[in-house]
Amino acid sequence: MIIARTIQELQASLQEFEKEGKDIGFVPTMGFLHEGHMELVKESKIKTDKTVMSIFVNPLQFGPNEDFDRYPRDEEKDIQLARNEGVDLLFLPTVEEMYPNGNLTINMVVTKRTDVLCGKSRPGHFDGVATVVAKLFQLIRPQLAFFGLKDAQQVAVIHALVEDYHFPIEIVPVPTVREHDGLAKSSRNVYLSDQERLEAPYLYKALQKGREAILKGDSISGIRDYLTAYIENHTSGEVDYLEIYSYPDLEMVIEDQQPVIIAVAVKFSQARLIDNIIITQKS
Ligand code: AMP
Repeated sequence: MIIARTIQELQASLQEFEKEGKDIGFVPTMGFLHEGHMELVKESKIKTDKTVMSIFVNPLQFGPNEDFDRYPRDEEKDIQLARNEGVDLLFLPTVEEMYPNGNLTINMVVTKRTDVLCGKSRPGHFDGVATVVAKLFQLIRPQLAFFGLKDAQQVAVIHALVEDYHFPIEIVPVPTVREHDGLAKSSRNVYLSDQERLEAPYLYKALQKGREAILKGDSISGIRDYLTAYIENHTSGEVDYLEIYSYPDLEMVIEDQQPVIIAVAVKFSQARLIDNIIITQKS
C-alpha cells in the first residue's frame, strides 16, 4: 500500500494508475477505521482496479462546539487496517495540506436537503462535507466513490453535488454495517459508557418498529411520536431528532410516495449517535 501525505505524492501515484489504465474507486473517511469503512473498501475492490482511501478529519464540517479536537484518531492502526483490507493508496493529508491558507476563498453552500435532520442541528456541516468532497473528487478523479448509508443525508447531498457540478463519478451507496445487537458501527461508539452501550441498540430497534408501522400504513406523526417516546423510555439519551421524510429529497412524505427514510439522532453524555432506515414500500 502506498501512503501519500501530500497532494504531490498523491498525484504521482495516481498518474501511475492512470498510465496503467486502472479504474479508481475512492473511499473518503475520517479514520478510526472499523468494519463499516472496510465494507466500503470491499465494495470498491469488487468494482474497481485500484482503491484509494483518504483519512482526513475535516475541520470545515465541525461546528465551533463540536468534537473536532477530540474526534478519535489512531493513524498507526488505521494504516494497518487499510493495508490488511487491500487499499492500494492511502491519502493522509494534514489540515495545512488541504487548506493551505487557513480558509478557502470559495466554499460550497448546500441549498437543499440540509434544512432537516443533521443539516438542521449542525448548521454548516454539509457545506463543509461538500467542500472537502469536491476537493477530493478533483484531486483523485475516481470513476466510482463509495459512501455509507449510515450517513444517508450525506449520500443525498453527494448525489446532488455530483449531479449539479457534473462530476463524472458514480456514487455507490453502501448499506450500514452493524454490531451483532444492531448498533450501527461508528467511530464515535467508543465514547459510550458501558450503560449507554447497552442502551444504544434501541435506536435500531425503534427504526425497525418504524418500518413495520410505515408498511402497515400508520400515520407519520403518530409513528414519529411513538418512536421518540420509545427511545426516550429505553435510553438515557436525548433525542435530537426523529424524523420521517421522502428519500433522497428529504421532504415531507406525501401519501404512498416512496422511498421514505426514518432518521434518528440521539445525544448521549459524550457521543451523539445517528442511524436511519430507508423503506421502499410496496406500490
Ligand atoms: P466517517 O469516517 O465517519 O466520515 O465515515 C466514512 C465513510 O464510511 C462514510 O461514507 C460513512 O457513511 C461510512 N460509514 C461509517 N460507518 C458506517 C457503517 N456502520 N456502515 C457503512 N458505512 C459506514
